[in-house]
Amino acid sequence: MNRHSVVRVKLLAMPEPFLTRDLRIAPNGIYIDPPQPQVRAIITHGHADHARSGHGAVLATPDTIAIMKARYGEDAAGRWDELPFGEKRTIDGVTISLHPAGHILGSAQVLLEHKGQRIVVTGDYKRLDDRTAQPFELVKCDLLVTEATFGLPVFQHPNPADEIARLLRSVAAYPGRAHVIGCYALGKAQRVILLLREGGYDAPIYLHGAMIRLCDLYEQRGIALGDLRPSLDVPKAELAGQIVIAPPTAIKNRWSRRLPDPVLAVASGWMSVKQRARQSGVELPLVISDHADWNELRQTIRETEAETIWVTHGREDALVYWSQQQGLAAEPLRIEAYDDAGEEGE
Ligand SMILES: [Zn+2]
Ligand SMILES: [Zn+2]
Repeated sequence: MNRHSVVRVKLLAMPEPFLTRDLRIAPNGIYIDPPQPQVRAIITHGHADHARSGHGAVLATPDTIAIMKARYGEDAAGRWDELPFGEKRTIDGVTISLHPAGHILGSAQVLLEHKGQRIVVTGDYKRLDDRTAQPFELVKCDLLVTEATFGLPVFQHPNPADEIARLLRSVAAYPGRAHVIGCYALGKAQRVILLLREGGYDAPIYLHGAMIRLCDLYEQRGIALGDLRPSLDVPKAELAGQIVIAPPTAIKNRWSRRLPDPVLAVASGWMSVKQRARQSGVELPLVISDHADWNELRQTIRETEAETIWVTHGREDALVYWSQQQGLAAEPLRIEAYDDAGEEGE
């Protein structure tokens, strides 16, 4: 087959996108997850590297708006505009709808439709089962803007239930010790708690103070997490044999000394990098990720049937190369703010 003719057909099939490479919707000037305050923004989810305060107007799912208000305050945006999953809103000729991304509560992919062209911006996403987030929905499109946090073949996440089973075996084996699990406060903490419940653990789970507000919010929004108690003021001896959820930073500092002989655990996709776990002094690394792994990323690219792939937010190059090998037009987006802000909820 003549290779040039194939390339030519693809170029003709894809008109110039109406989304710019800094994720600005050209016909209406609305940005998606902008790092700087903008007049109008669509926010995919509540993590700090996507949701900033100070925008004139924010369009997002009701859960994401509730999360942003809880974290940044009611006046963190000039105007809040709720768009429930699946509903359409047309602004200056561009039809916008939000579809579940499966990453954390309320997390959305953004579908943009304009003059017959369909663009999907995934935000952060995963496809594994997670009852604390609305399940990922596949959306077909012409241009897919995908995240790539774990965009290398080495990242193949294990079954989270197996990781939790390992944790519960350790809890049973060391009744005199507290197990403290480092988790990001938004999303990961609630997911780990629910995984523990699904694993049959119905004892009280103790929370570092930084976890309480967002666990309350999840409960208010219909995600039951069982018996949760603040760890503050609980006598040290009473925490022997118990599970405590704390921010990743807290498990390494003086805070954890208030726990009896703590087993330090961290729940993160990065825990598959053994060196990283060792360096941070983690005794019990739990590979529990809220992002798509290498297989899910490739599966999603295939299933959306997009012919143009923009890769951002992580390790872009391997996924760009793989996409090109599949005959797709692919390029990395280098959106600076994502890199230096650091990622929440890995
Ligand atoms: Zn995120
Ligand atoms: Zn992110």
